[in-house]
Amino acid sequence: MILDDLYREVILDHYRAPRNAVAPEELAGRPVHENPACGDSLRLEVVLAQDGTVKHIRHHSQGCAISVASASLMTEVLRGRSAAESRVVANRFIRAMRGEDNPRGLEELGDLAALQGVTRFPLRVKCATLAWHALLEALLDALR
Ligand code: ZN
Repeated sequence: MILDDLYREVILDHYRAPRNAVAPEELAGRPVHENPACGDSLRLEVVLAQDGTVKHIRHHSQGCAISVASASLMTEVLRGRSAAESRVVANRFIRAMRGEDNPRGLEELGDLAALQGVTRFPLRVKCATLAWHALLEALLDALR
């Protein structure tokens, strides 16, 4: 119960003050990713450094608390990781959300664990994974 409250605080904090968020004009050239079931949308930009680590990751997210918080938490957990590691984290997160892996595995990924409760609400899984699908696409683009 106390853990649930803590996680709710983390999610609300990231929803109210999303990290690495920018005005939509700054990401005008980036594709819009949408979750029509809930009305969530996001643009994302990933810039890799010469050594293949994530140098910048910026987003503009609109929608429910879960979708915005997930994008915000994602930008924090990926900064400084390599593109390959980022892909591994994204796939782990998506599998955990879908219930294919134990969501407790997210506890190794810091505040991202705050989203593990989403697995109890199947309709919200797409809210939580929107940013991560966008990330996988953006990484492919960045490596091109
Ligand atoms: Zn949503």
